[in-house]
Parts: sequence; structure tokens; C-alpha cells
Amino acid sequence: VPELPEVELVRRSLLPIRGRRIEEVEVLLPSVLSSPFEDIKRAKGRKVKDIERRGKQIFLILEEGILTLHLGMTGETILGERAEVKHVAVRVRFDDGKYLNFIDQRRFGAFGYADSVRGFVATHHLGPDILIMHKDDLVSHLRRSRRPVKSILLDQSVTAGIGNLYADEALFQARLHPLRTGASLKEEEAARLWRMARKVIRRSLADQTDFDLLPASYLLPVREGRGPCPRCHGELQALVVGGRTSVFCPNCQVASE
Ligand SMILES: [Zn+2]
Repeated sequence: VPELPEVELVRRSLLPIRGRRIEEVEVLLPSVLSSPFEDIKRAKGRKVKDIERRGKQIFLILEEGILTLHLGMTGETILGERAEVKHVAVRVRFDDGKYLNFIDQRRFGAFGYADSVRGFVATHHLGPDILIMHKDDLVSHLRRSRRPVKSILLDQSVTAGIGNLYADEALFQARLHPLRTGASLKEEEAARLWRMARKVIRRSLADQTDFDLLPASYLLPVREGRGPCPRCHGELQALVVGGRTSVFCPNCQVASE
């Protein structure tokens, strides 16, 4: 499932369409539309000014209005000279003859239109992107919540972009148990979590999200196979928090002080 780093790589791959004018928007899988097709058609004839991202959400900023894209579970984009045919949900043609193909095999993605990023963010209760969020904002969110820290990190209205894998990595690097409540964190622990969440995301981005390139001190390369803890070489454990599987080291990630 794409999280912030994977989505950021997609955003960067779309930068060549800046300055291009949209000639046609074809919707082949109407179930992915998050806005009425009447609205999406308004993008026709407009120029793409920029590609922005907030959390896992991509925005095509048009001369007027925006197109919104969420990859869902397995969505991907192919930018190229030809119209792809398999599992294409939405196909956008530009004035240079190129196509943006939004492929969504499992149909959990979303494609829509909004008047502005600000409006979209308000309607969807999207918190600040973790990479631009101020430390004090996350620290205060964490420390006034009685929910498990893992759940708070996954709550896109608190901070946008962190999914299950990077939440576990951030907690591992910060040496915090996923079931610790936000309110139980000391100020220093909450600040450490903010720092580690950003660090692991930046590091993954630098490695083009290839987990095999991550340092040996990271959980991500071994969590799938439940390898030994990279730090103490003890056995990793898994538990379900908020419906998602959390992998952690019971030895390194203390449940409470
Ligand atoms: Zn350990």
C-alpha cells in the first residue's frame, strides 16, 4: 500500500506534465470517481500549473480548480506516449499527445475534482503533511490523546502521509511500544517520535523506497519475514492495533516507563 514516500515518487514522476494543457479526460472505471463526472469535465482545456502532494493525496493544480488523485491500495500512474489499456480507471490526454494513465486494478483509488487544495483539505479533514508538520503540533496532538500512539500516527486528520509500515518503523526507531497512549508520552518521547517519523520517511525517499537499501538498523527490511530484531536480535512480535498489524520488539520498545 503506497505511503508518503511512494506517493511522493509518483508526484515527481508526474512533473513533466507541468505546463501541458488537458485535451481530454476519459473515465473508464466510474467507481473510482470521487466527484461527479460533470465536475471532472471542467478540467478539459485547462493547463496544469503544478503537481502537489499532501500526505498520500496528489493534486494536479490547474489554471482554475484541481484534479485529485489517491492511489488507494495498488493504484499506479503511467505517463507516456500511448494510451494503456489494462485496468485503466482514468486516462488524461494532454496537448503534446502524451497520456496520464491512472491504473487501478483493485479499485480502491480515487480521482476527483475540487475548487482548491484548501477546500479539499478542509472537506476531507486532512492534517498537515508529516514532512512539513511543526514538532509542537504533533507533540501536543499526541500528548492530549488517550488513544494508542500507533492509532494517532495513522490518523490522517492528525498528520497526513504515515501508513502502517512507516508508523511501525517510526515507533521502532523511537523505541516506543505501539500501545503506549499518547497521553503517557513524555514531551521528549513525543518529540522523538516526530523526529523519527520524518527521518524514516526521508530515508526511504532517498533510497527510492527500496527497503533493501535501508540501514541494517531498520525494521522495514525484516518485518515481513519476522526476522530477529535489528537492534537486540530478539524475537519480533505482532499485535493488532486499530485493525492493522503492528510489528515491534517487546524488548526494545518498552510498554511504559
Ligand atoms: Zn529489540
